[in-house]
Amino acid sequence: MKNTLISLFQSRFGKDFRLYASSGRINLIGEHTDYNGGFVFPGAIDKVIMAAISPNGSDRVRVQSVDLNDYCEFGLREEDIPQQQWARYVFGVCREVQKRGFAVGGFDAVFAGDVPLGAGLSSSATLESCFAFAVNDLFNDNKIEKFELARIGQSTEHNYCGVKCGIMDQFASIHGKKGCLMRLDCRSMEFEYFPFDPKGYRLVLVNSKVKHELVGSPYNKRRESCERVASLLGMETLRDAEMADLEGVKDKISEEDYMRARYVIGEKQRVLDVCEALERGDYETVGQRMYQTHWGMSKDYEVSCEELDFLARLAERCGVTGSRIMGGGFGGCTINLVKDELYDAFIGAVKKEFPAQYNVEPEIIPVVISDGARRIE
Ligand code: ADP
Ligand code: MG
Repeated sequence: MKNTLISLFQSRFGKDFRLYASSGRINLIGEHTDYNGGFVFPGAIDKVIMAAISPNGSDRVRVQSVDLNDYCEFGLREEDIPQQQWARYVFGVCREVQKRGFAVGGFDAVFAGDVPLGAGLSSSATLESCFAFAVNDLFNDNKIEKFELARIGQSTEHNYCGVKCGIMDQFASIHGKKGCLMRLDCRSMEFEYFPFDPKGYRLVLVNSKVKHELVGSPYNKRRESCERVASLLGMETLRDAEMADLEGVKDKISEEDYMRARYVIGEKQRVLDVCEALERGDYETVGQRMYQTHWGMSKDYEVSCEELDFLARLAERCGVTGSRIMGGGFGGCTINLVKDELYDAFIGAVKKEFPAQYNVEPEIIPVVISDGARRIE
């Protein structure tokens, strides 16, 4: 990828450049916890977007997407917003940097990546992080704090791409560190690195490629359930709730609200358990918590679907250490922690049994926890 980028940049722009990369991300555990003031536990992965960039002394940006084989040129004022969706991520990052009072000049760029698009690894946050990091380095002597770079990516999604996302994806892509996962406290925004070096195990995603069209707004309904229970408990969010608190109000709430809150309170504890387990290198406990999250999302939070339950059960049957839905649910990937010696058999079973059942070829995406945004050359 690197050599292709360099030669494309040279032939199009013919000058010196700097090379940047940022990474896609996984979330090991901690799902639907962000809006409940809880924890998420992401890490950056060895799938990246890489960009060769050079300031051009003008007030225009000229950027080539290798993967989409498309080119775009735009100015840096609000009304210069480009037509192409992919270019809006780059434009949005530039605008959000400017809005915060930092500098962005014109530049020439060529970029490419191997983060699969729309597979749940957040290729869009990767793209934002790559350009946010680059603009900070090229025009601002890295004065913008790293966490603010993540916020710049998040605001780009909100203001230029119509996606009201949280901060996790951009945070992970920017702050990721090889061999480490990060526990982000979604209430205080504080975070901590934990060692993730699963010797003898591999992490692999299985993309079911299904995405269920949802009727109504199930996410809002989940949120409302959580808010109702929290407010009955006199709390701002379920972050502060314990199982005993929930049991105490069981008679006053609907069965549905009870199940939703049980999942969220359990999930907070599971993230903490996983962190503790990682500090002792206990990957078996990590795996058990992953399965518990899966079945909590399926049975209590009811955001799974038949295909993902099938994949989790298949993993269980193959002796996989941990497996669960990754992401909000209703489709997408499972994330699996698999012992080396079981890996081939598991992948073989997935490739055989999933298409036989659902007539869809799943995508297998092995990942290694790696560094986040950085300058390469
Ligand atoms: P994801 O879950 O992967 O973030 P999104 O739909 O949010 O999926 O973002 C995907 C969009 O991001 C693409 O449609 C494209 O506009 C942009 N994008 C991501 N990766 C690339 C890439 N390698 N080259 C060009 N555009 C990209
Ligand atoms: Mg995205």
